[in-house]
Amino acid sequence: MACDHLRGLPDPAPLTPGGCQECLASGGRWVHLRRCRTCGHVGCCDSSPGRHATAHFQATRHPVIRSHQPGETWSWCYVDEVMLG
Ligand SMILES: [Zn+2]
Ligand SMILES: [Zn+2]
Ligand SMILES: [Zn+2]
Repeated sequence: MACDHLRGLPDPAPLTPGGCQECLASGGRWVHLRRCRTCGHVGCCDSSPGRHATAHFQATRHPVIRSHQPGETWSWCYVDEVMLG
């Protein structure tokens, strides 16, 4: 596999299961949700105005997010820019 970041990540439960943490706090809106596989932060996707999932990576360097959309199980590594099954 092209990415080694997933190894050993806890894949924690979402901190804010109902939506993007920053958008919930600010009253913002999101399109899709992504969950950080390091800390469980839930942020919105790059199609959302806030782009908080990417902002979370840039602030924390937590490398891998997973889709928080129902029925979607894929993950994405920001460092390697690779989709993970
Ligand atoms: Zn990686
Ligand atoms: Zn957001
Ligand atoms: Zn995180």
